[in-house]
Amino acid sequence: MIDPSLPYQAVLAARAGQLSTLCVHAGEDAARHGALDLPITLSSAFGFESADEAAGAFRRENDAYIYGRWGNPNIDALEDKLAALEGAETASVTASGMAAISGTIMSICQSGDHVVAPRSMYAESARLLRERLPRFGVTTTFVDARDPGAYAAAIRKETRVLYLETPSNPVLAVADVGAVARLAKERGLLSIADNTFATPFSQTPLALGVDLVVHSMTKALGGHGDAIGGVLAGRRALVDVARDLIVKGLGGVLAPFNAFLIDRGLRTFALRQAQACATAATLASRLVAHPAIARVYHPSLPGHAGHALAGAQMHAYGSLLSFELGGDAEDALERGKRVLEGVKVATHAVSLGDVRTLLVHPASTTHSTMNAETRALADVTDGLLRLSAGIEGAEDLWADLEGALARAS
Ligand code: PLP
Repeated sequence: MIDPSLPYQAVLAARAGQLSTLCVHAGEDAARHGALDLPITLSSAFGFESADEAAGAFRRENDAYIYGRWGNPNIDALEDKLAALEGAETASVTASGMAAISGTIMSICQSGDHVVAPRSMYAESARLLRERLPRFGVTTTFVDARDPGAYAAAIRKETRVLYLETPSNPVLAVADVGAVARLAKERGLLSIADNTFATPFSQTPLALGVDLVVHSMTKALGGHGDAIGGVLAGRRALVDVARDLIVKGLGGVLAPFNAFLIDRGLRTFALRQAQACATAATLASRLVAHPAIARVYHPSLPGHAGHALAGAQMHAYGSLLSFELGGDAEDALERGKRVLEGVKVATHAVSLGDVRTLLVHPASTTHSTMNAETRALADVTDGLLRLSAGIEGAEDLWADLEGALARAS
């Protein structure tokens, strides 16, 4: 999907052109009484015109709002925009990315069921599958998702879900989305893809055959680091069951104010991603040539194991990259800390997809809940730093990083 004969900037500009109209206008047709921005509806309950309207609303015969945990205009508008961006029949927003991920899996699986998931993934998702869901009888086999045969080999008669996170957090491991989605269909299973790292700018898993997409909207969708939220998207039959459990049953509803903030953030989503993806590719290519760096992970790099696959299944290579400092491992950890503390334009913080460039040490923060052995299987070494490109100038960021690397060594 990424035409290698075109300059990458042209690929990114074209992708931004495809999405920007949807970013600004999709889901914007709710009644707003002349206000250009949908006003925030801060109401926990909604009044009825008549007893019949109330009864009809409960029977789902009209679309009157009833109660804030069951629906709200800001939530509906945001869901329409997200469904449009992911090319989904419908979407359901949730209180956080973890609410979307945990609830989606729980809406499909019951005690005795089994999931196949990647070894390299966001640590809290891994913890959900490794520690929390087994308490309810749902177990998981973790596989090397880069190996096309690994999912098939792990399927058992109890398997219900093939779970993907690609490119993965934090080493950008790329799995073949179409192949896993086809495998799920052949075996009567459901496939779920966490598309947080790629975002619908860089990858649209539903178009590749996946059944459900989940996201942390806290990241690039909201984009401004001011609201926690999640979303799942796909066929109505699946999304409605998950929404009923997550939002109505487990109470993972998104606050209307967060819906407003994320909706506003989404209007500039494609422009932000075009800039951030360009910067990530620039920084990755320069870091590869930097003498202090031992290894760089970004799918745009020809040396990345998933480069060709990413080019075939993604619209862009994404805005996240990771790198390892070279030299002695013990010393690399100390130098890594000095890089984190030495940057001035980039910000030392967890999270990703922000307008600010964010730099973090996964082994001691985001992935610290994995034990050393699991971290090693997920390729999270002690010397690894993860960078989420923001929208600052690429040259300012490079000068910042180069300076911090020089001062650290
Ligand atoms: N999925 C991925 C890939 C993430 O990186 C994160 C958080 O960092 C999540 C899901 C969880 O999202 P949230 O923090 O919104 O619950």
